[in-house]
Amino acid sequence: MVKFPDYLIEGHKDFRNNKYLSHKDTYEHLADAGQNPEVLVIGCSDSRVNPNDIFNSAPGELFIIRNVANLVPPFETLGAYHGVSAALEFGVQHLEVKHVVVLGHTGCGGVKAMLDTTAPFRSDMTFINNWVSMMSDERDKVLKALPTASLADQMEALEQRSITASLENLRSFPFVKKREEAGQLALHGTYFDVASGSLFIRDPDSGLFNVVE
Ligand SMILES: [Zn+2]
Repeated sequence: MVKFPDYLIEGHKDFRNNKYLSHKDTYEHLADAGQNPEVLVIGCSDSRVNPNDIFNSAPGELFIIRNVANLVPPFETLGAYHGVSAALEFGVQHLEVKHVVVLGHTGCGGVKAMLDTTAPFRSDMTFINNWVSMMSDERDKVLKALPTASLADQMEALEQRSITASLENLRSFPFVKKREEAGQLALHGTYFDVASGSLFIRDPDSGLFNVVE
C-alpha cells in the first residue's frame, strides 16, 4: 500500500491548529464569497521561493502561477495546452487583479539549464529544454555581454533579464496591454535572494533591481 508521508500529515495538523485557526473567519468568508485577490504572482516552482512566505500573505491575497524559472511565454493561440496563459487570463480578465508580479530568484535551476549545457537534467529533459528555450535570445545577449564571467554571474544576469523579458511577454497579451494602458493593471519585476531572504524590486526606468530595506 502506498504510504502518505507522515511529515505531511503532521504539517497539515499543524496548519489546522495554527494558521487555519488564526485565519478561520477569513477562510469561511472566502469559501462563501469566493476569492478576490488583488495580486497575481508568477513565481518559480523552486521549493525555496514560496510567494506566500516572501510576502507574508494571508489566504485569498495572492493568485499564484508557478512554473520552471517563473517564465511568461509570449501570447499565441496556436499549440495545444497553455497553463500559464489560462491562469493569466483568469487572473486578469475574471479576477481583475490590479498587480502582476514576476518573482525571480537566485540560483534558479531553470535558468542554469539555459546556460550550462552540462547540467545533469539538460540532456534528457525534453520539456524543460523546450520550455526554457523561450528565453534563448536573452541567454545569447548575456553570453555576448559577459563571455568570460563565472556561471554564477551569468546566471544572475539571465535571471534578471528573463524577468524583464517576461514583463514584455505579458504585454503581448491583448487583455494585459489594454488594462495596463487604462491604468487598471500594473506590472512589476522582483528578484528574491534565497540566502539572505532579501527582495529586490525592478525600477521600470533604470531596469535595475533595488533591495527592499
Ligand atoms: Zn527557479
